[in-house]
Amino acid sequence: MNQTFIALGSNQQQPLQQVKLAVKALAELGQIKNCSSWYQSQSILDGQDDYINGVAELHTSLSALALLKALQTIENQQGRLRKERWGPRTLDLDIILFNNDEVQTPELTIPHACMLERNFVLQPLLQIKPGIYLPNGTALETISAQLGSAGLEKIS
Ligand code: ATP
Ligand code: CA
Ligand code: CA
Repeated sequence: MNQTFIALGSNQQQPLQQVKLAVKALAELGQIKNCSSWYQSQSILDGQDDYINGVAELHTSLSALALLKALQTIENQQGRLRKERWGPRTLDLDIILFNNDEVQTPELTIPHACMLERNFVLQPLLQIKPGIYLPNGTALETISAQLGSAGLEKIS
């Protein structure tokens, strides 16, 4: 069984409902062990609506690549349109961590390439997994403390 953490995000069409629906869809891919609170975050890009973000811990027998495909299917089922990169979206599902694996392929970078810069990923992750480390030994609590909570608010 693979232990993986999925970051969820939405800023379109009732974001809170979108992420809650996505957790139900994720449960079809294995077992949800934990789900963080929901956080509201200001978009990294100017002019976009706020996001709802959270992190779920999923245990699954899917490989990382099969999981990515399954996540993309869920995104599409919830009306994700791929226009510009980092554009507004009904649902974004990213693989943050997958066991202790380090993956570097054209389709997949694990740990997620930008996670260390994103308090809307680190805070919900640490909420459900305090004291967690990256495969290379980086302590995420330290990074999260340095990032702070600007633009981020726990809503539930
Ligand atoms: P960001 O990567 O900055 O969070 P994004 O989530 O908006 O941006 P997408 O358009 O959703 O980017 O995905 C672009 C590509 O990223 C996907 O086609 C996928 O192959 C690739 N990708 C690489 N690593 C991962 C990962 N760990 N989880 C999800 N997708 C990944
Ligand atoms: Ca993303
Ligand atoms: Ca994505």
